[in-house]
Amino acid sequence: MRSLVVGEWEDGAISDATLRVIRAASERGAPVDVLTFSSTMADAAACIEGIARVLLASDEAPNPETLAALLERIASDYSMIAASHRTAGRSALPRAAALTGNAFLADITRVVTAQRFVRGLYAGSVVATIESTGATLFATIRTSSFAPASRTGGAASIVTLDTIAPFSATVLIDRQAAAQNGRDLSSARIVVAGGRGLASKDNMDKLGALAGNMGAALGASRAAVDAGYAPNAAQVGQTGKTVAPEIYLAFGISGAIQHLAGMKDSQIIVAVNKDPDAPIFSVADYGIVGDLFDVVGELEAHARSLGSAQ
Ligand SMILES: Cc1cc2nc3c(=O)[nH]c(=O)nc-3n(C[C@H](O)[C@H](O)[C@H](O)COP(=O)(O)OP(=O)(O)OC[C@H]3O[C@@H](n4cnc5c(N)ncnc54)[C@H](O)[C@@H]3O)c2cc1C
Repeated sequence: MRSLVVGEWEDGAISDATLRVIRAASERGAPVDVLTFSSTMADAAACIEGIARVLLASDEAPNPETLAALLERIASDYSMIAASHRTAGRSALPRAAALTGNAFLADITRVVTAQRFVRGLYAGSVVATIESTGATLFATIRTSSFAPASRTGGAASIVTLDTIAPFSATVLIDRQAAAQNGRDLSSARIVVAGGRGLASKDNMDKLGALAGNMGAALGASRAAVDAGYAPNAAQVGQTGKTVAPEIYLAFGISGAIQHLAGMKDSQIIVAVNKDPDAPIFSVADYGIVGDLFDVVGELEAHARSLGSAQ
């Protein structure tokens, strides 16, 4: 019984999301291997704490169909194959599950035992505990629910896999990162989020600058994204990203259930809203009933005074 984590390479390093999937997989108590796609990536993966073996598959990240075919070939060695709940994993793992006649479980938030897992349903309003009885479970992991494994401390062996014929009916022409203000939303320790109450893109840009000064990522409600104040990549919620940072600051966000689904697991929630009955206050640890522009102005002045004091 072993686990395999499909690795991701981002900005010249194993992604933070991969480290969190490794932590989740290691909670099953079985040895954890990592699948990699270049020798540089394999070397980095071999150093991660607690990794048993690194599989080196090819010289570039495969498309979902090729990855699914590769996973089909090695699936019988594993009782669980996991990836982060992002586009690549969500595309490849259901395909591999279908090819091998196994189950696919999406967006795991907790590992109970080696075969039993927890995930949310209906935008988090139902929490389901599910037991896997198949030979190999294919699963995506909600990375914000797990701490990252350490990048150092491991000395795993590297095993090179036979090459696999790439699926060529589709060809990747170009890949461009979505415009993002500040840090990566899914792994940021602090998220500063704005809603329709921001009232303009200029104001959202100012909030983004404040987030940058605080070392935070900028998030947004769907209403703010739809109004063109913030890019799609910033959307938090049921149809956007799920985040669980140490601090989530919500400015001018009412707290619709679809928004709460993406942020209510944050450790500390601070809400600023002029409406004392706004639903966001029902999940907030600290609430300020008032004009968000006054509060943002005070935070900006505080950030400036900290800057000039250094
Ligand atoms: C299928 C589906 C999926 C959805 N998915 C998502 C999703 O992923 N994410 C998401 O966010 N929403 C999602 N929505 C939309 C969601 O229902 C809400 O419409 C949206 O979250 C509202 O955004 P908001 O809070 O910014 O706007 P509003 O609800 O309009 O709230 C604006 C708030 O700003 C406050 N405000 C205004 N001016 C000020 C001021 N000067 N100072 C302080 N407070 C001020 C107001 O009091 C109000 O509470 C989804 C909806 C559906 C149907």
